[in-house]
Amino acid sequence: MIKVRNLHKSFGQLDVLKGIDYDIKEKEVICVIGPSGSGKSTFLRCINLLEEITDGEVFIDGVKINDPKTDINEIRREVGMVFQQFNLFPHMRVIDNITISPKKIRKMSQGKAEELALQLLEKVGLADKAYAYPEQLSGGQMQRVAIARALAMKPKVMLFDEPTSALDPEMVKEVLDVMKQLALEGMTMVVVTHEMGFAREMGDRVLFLDQGLLVEEGTPEEIFSNPKNERTKAFFSKIL
Ligand code: ADP
Ligand code: MG
Repeated sequence: MIKVRNLHKSFGQLDVLKGIDYDIKEKEVICVIGPSGSGKSTFLRCINLLEEITDGEVFIDGVKINDPKTDINEIRREVGMVFQQFNLFPHMRVIDNITISPKKIRKMSQGKAEELALQLLEKVGLADKAYAYPEQLSGGQMQRVAIARALAMKPKVMLFDEPTSALDPEMVKEVLDVMKQLALEGMTMVVVTHEMGFAREMGDRVLFLDQGLLVEEGTPEEIFSNPKNERTKAFFSKIL
């Protein structure tokens, strides 16, 4: 579903991604871990073209996304993204946050878009918040709205960039539970996370990034119980 070949990303003189190769299959849940500044967010942002790719190739469903002939907006609509800071539109009610993209980009009617939004809010356990404004919600509720908003575009893939890192501890589980449900439904997901429990339980594969390189990858069992790379071991010795 996603094929990454020799992916390089530089900001000026700073080489942030230094040649990443990876294949992600349909329905896989890929968890990405690694130290701060290792390039995890940049990796996700290259997959949905929030960053321009410096060199190499990324294919989604066989389409090379960094081909000048490829329509960036078409790629973005197939790839949902959830950010650490939710990024909801503060002046819009929850339901309008969810319907805006399907209406504008998928040309869905108001009625159909609202029906879909209510269905998705039900799914993330927030049917009663449809007409609230983001500021009236807790962080965990805002993040669940952000997930519903991304799903409203019916993406092929969902990218999550530390979706629970900005949350108070008691709200982490409600967001992870929604993500688990999505994974069990067969959504293809790439999740940058510090939630090692989630990675262990839900990850099909775990990727360890360090200094812009994919240093090690494997099943959660292989990575957590038997890391082979010295840098992976050193990372775990600091956090576990
Ligand atoms: P991570 O998500 O693993 O913490 P990032 O992908 O956010 O790492 O960042 C990797 C490196 O790239 C860091 O050194 C960061 O400062 C740098 N970086 C990220 N975005 C930009 C940008 N827009 N301009 C310049 N440097 C950036
Ligand atoms: Mg990051």
